Amino acid sequence: MTAPIYIVYYSVDHAMTFWQAALEPLLPGIKLVTAEQPEAQDAEVMITWNPPEGMIAGLKNLKGVISLAQGVDHVLNGKTFPAHLKFARLIDPYMSEAMAEWVTLTVLEYHRDAAAYREAETRHDWIRLPPRIAARTTVAVMGLGAIGSVVAETLTHLKFNVIGWSRSEKSIAGVTCYHGDDGFEACLKSADILVSILPLTAATENIYNAKHFAQMKKGAAFINAGRGKQVVEPDLIAAIDQGHLRGATLDVMVTEPLPADHAFWDHPKITVWPHVSAQTNPESASEQVVEAITDIRAGREPRNSVNIARGY
Ligand code: NDP
Repeated sequence: MTAPIYIVYYSVDHAMTFWQAALEPLLPGIKLVTAEQPEAQDAEVMITWNPPEGMIAGLKNLKGVISLAQGVDHVLNGKTFPAHLKFARLIDPYMSEAMAEWVTLTVLEYHRDAAAYREAETRHDWIRLPPRIAARTTVAVMGLGAIGSVVAETLTHLKFNVIGWSRSEKSIAGVTCYHGDDGFEACLKSADILVSILPLTAATENIYNAKHFAQMKKGAAFINAGRGKQVVEPDLIAAIDQGHLRGATLDVMVTEPLPADHAFWDHPKITVWPHVSAQTNPESASEQVVEAITDIRAGREPRNSVNIARGY
């Protein structure tokens, strides 16, 4: 009989059985347990999305943690992460593809005036708006990492003029890449559609605020799939209500789930998505989770290690 390998699980409750089913064939003996079960104290690895403060530090046998997401802010930000632990995150090509699909959908909605045509349809009105040329439409992709680089590259296939922004210098075929503070401003000023896929760190929190919305082109659209706390939400509403921005499509919010009385829900120029643009999928991610579990248990640095000092 295979000896049990206890792994602590803390994430969405109902997904625990999916993860157990996806991981078991790849790592016989694996047994996901909650932090409250006595076996958790034997566990060397925890897999998680948003552990409460103190939970990780309370697991005395732990050698490392794996984020069940590409973002790590729910594990790190405002929480203690013991320095001796290894920390890996997901980098799942299927999530990049899913995000590229969602961004394509939302960018094309603006590019092809989908909202105006749907609204005209409700009035049985046969309107025809002036067409736009993709090559003369600048789409700025903020964040050119595992996901953003795939998104930017995908948009080049639709012939958009794609520009992008990252912290370090990058080179992506067909994409004009900017970095640093000057690069941020250049992207704000030239984007007809701005798509943000940045991690939430001290440097990116509240980065989309009144000052920066004012630097954007009049009539530009704002799309955010990074994290809600990067946006000062009242400033976004003001920029739209003042007619400066055309509208916004948001997959992430400061408070999730979005409270029922939040102004975003009924705003005619804001489209709300419930954080589904690129969902973690145990089916596609289980192989790399097992690889990271194996590395951490063996004392090796996992492949997709998180730079904790940098925050992503
Ligand atoms: P990566 O770490 O691979 O990429 C992050 C990118 O952002 C990098 O290009 C990085 O620059 C850039 N960046 C980070 N900080 C700054 C900064 N201060 N200034 C300029 N650029 C910066 O992350 P992923 O692509 O895997 O994911 C990005 C984020 O997307 C996640 O952290 C998460 O918040 C969000 N996400 C949202 C999902 C959803 O369903 N809505 C699903 C999955 C992820 P550099 O390359 O120089 O390091």
